[in-house]
Amino acid sequence: MITLLKKAGTCSVITAADIIRQGGLVAFPTETVYGLGADATNAAAVRKIFAAKGRPADNPLIVHISNVDELRLITPEVTTAAEKLIAAYWPGPLTIVLRKTPIIPDEVTCGLDTVGIRLPADKTARRLIAASGVPIAAPSANKSGRPSPTRAEHVLRDLDGKIDMILDGGATVFGLESTVVDALEDVPRLLRPGSVTAEMLRETCGNLVSDIEAYGVPPSPGMKYRHYAPRARLTLVIGEPESAAQAINKILRAKTPGVTAGVLASAQTAGLYDKTRHVVLAAGDRNRPETAGANLFALLREFDERNVREIFAESLEETGAGLAVMNRLKKAAAEIIRL
Ligand code: AMP
Ligand code: MG
Repeated sequence: MITLLKKAGTCSVITAADIIRQGGLVAFPTETVYGLGADATNAAAVRKIFAAKGRPADNPLIVHISNVDELRLITPEVTTAAEKLIAAYWPGPLTIVLRKTPIIPDEVTCGLDTVGIRLPADKTARRLIAASGVPIAAPSANKSGRPSPTRAEHVLRDLDGKIDMILDGGATVFGLESTVVDALEDVPRLLRPGSVTAEMLRETCGNLVSDIEAYGVPPSPGMKYRHYAPRARLTLVIGEPESAAQAINKILRAKTPGVTAGVLASAQTAGLYDKTRHVVLAAGDRNRPETAGANLFALLREFDERNVREIFAESLEETGAGLAVMNRLKKAAAEIIRL
């Protein structure tokens, strides 16, 4: 299969919508990361997503809509909690889990009777869904296990020849996958942290179950997988910035010369490392964790491009968008050192 790569525009969106209607696969930009889309009502098309990504068969997909009215096709019941969330955050980077209607095949939800739904803010994404005339099932458009794609080039690198088309809309805004919230009960439950933060959700709904790491069996199947991993081995060092830099420098000094090591630092700490010997990348401003979120996946891929074998990553405080960044780093990590 030859993968078409086209700049997002009126003509290319129409071509992409034709492909979706015919049961093909199109990668498209959203404000979070690039998604790999198929007609969510076509079981055979949805199976192709799993095959192209090498995605485990028990990790359900998010269904994307272009208008709130399309919700009633997908779910029989919009709960009170969901209504509040929709009013506050749609269109935007929030996925809401609700009961599903029979129009959504088991292939999308991996047999669950619930479905994750999102109305994205990105204009290209919404135009594509509207032009297709069907809801679009789309996980992130990366090879399973790799960092999510935040640029069309990342999609091409992972999925060239395996999908029909990529709509190139440039770099995504948030750079982290959507926040996922289960809104089946009165008190919603955070399943995956993202740019709509736990603090924001608690404020909107009055209450929120959010202690993700304390959940026993993962309530969101995707949470059990190691994810987002670069090819390099990543060690996450959790502690205050200066002590983390000291600990990382100590490890780096003991390394055999010749093995390329990398450091994922911040604007504030990048100067504490020897850039002449190591690949030192600053993810963003540690006081504005959303800036780290926007760059994180692109930087993990850059370490790979620069042949880094071992990455040492500093931690961020787990509040606001920092919770989402740390969630992705913990899943990417082969080892976690707590100082
Ligand atoms: P991705 O789009 O690749 O980021 O993956 C979608 C994420 O949404 C996965 O981690 C799933 O576990 C989660 N998800 C999708 N549908 C459901 C659902 N019905 N219940 C719980 N989590 C879901
Ligand atoms: Mg994904």
